Amino acid sequence: MQVLLAHVTGRNRAWLFAHPEASLTPEQEQAFQQARQRFEQGEPLPYILGHWEFYGLDFIVTPEVLIPRPETELLIDLARTQLGPGSRLIDIGTGSGCIPVTLATVLPNAEIVATDISPAALTIARLNAEKHGVGGRIRFCEADLFPLDLQSASFDLILSNPPYIPTETLHGLEVFGREPTLALDGGPDGMDTIRRLLVESKRWLAPGGALLVEIESGLGQLALETAARQFPGAKIQVLKDLAGLDRVLSIVT
Ligand code: GLN
Repeated sequence: MQVLLAHVTGRNRAWLFAHPEASLTPEQEQAFQQARQRFEQGEPLPYILGHWEFYGLDFIVTPEVLIPRPETELLIDLARTQLGPGSRLIDIGTGSGCIPVTLATVLPNAEIVATDISPAALTIARLNAEKHGVGGRIRFCEADLFPLDLQSASFDLILSNPPYIPTETLHGLEVFGREPTLALDGGPDGMDTIRRLLVESKRWLAPGGALLVEIESGLGQLALETAARQFPGAKIQVLKDLAGLDRVLSIVT
């Protein structure tokens, strides 16, 4: 509740602790009751607050986009080791834009494209790019995976946190119905989007380019086998997140 009080008063939690005598204005009281009701009905806290932290940056989030997860920060760390100055990269299924915006802030010379099939998500992603002063550095495109209007481009790095939860598993999760199904549902075995992504990536990767794809923790072996069929001869690994779970499929050609 302290977080909601801080949200409606615009004070931080330290201030609230130091001023136990402070009271809410009628408007703040109303805003607090509304926020509390939404929270008690199970709405995720980031949507109530309207923003959430990722990789030390603050991102606008609405129910149109997946809430950025700490495990996705691994994609950023790995991307940073793959990229040199002037690298070209594309983020597929960008959602809130947390991946390309974060990379744009740490890689001042990278050329960055980000796509999403959802126009509503792209609106939020563009706002986040503006918020962090990198609006002019990222080209956002509405597309189902790769942008149709970039026929001849090639990328040094293809990144994605695609929908990867197997449909049946998803239906049993708390996030189901609360975050966009489009961003979570990976089809019967969780691999529908990843399979398409791997097939299509082949014609977009620059020679020596790499792919980093977030995966469901139980799908490491399946992801390795699928990748090996599409990229024979590439260096293929599944890397673990901080919880020790399989999290990122890495393909270096
Ligand atoms: N990691 C997210 C979750 O467990 C799923 C994200 C995704 O499907 N891309 O809710």
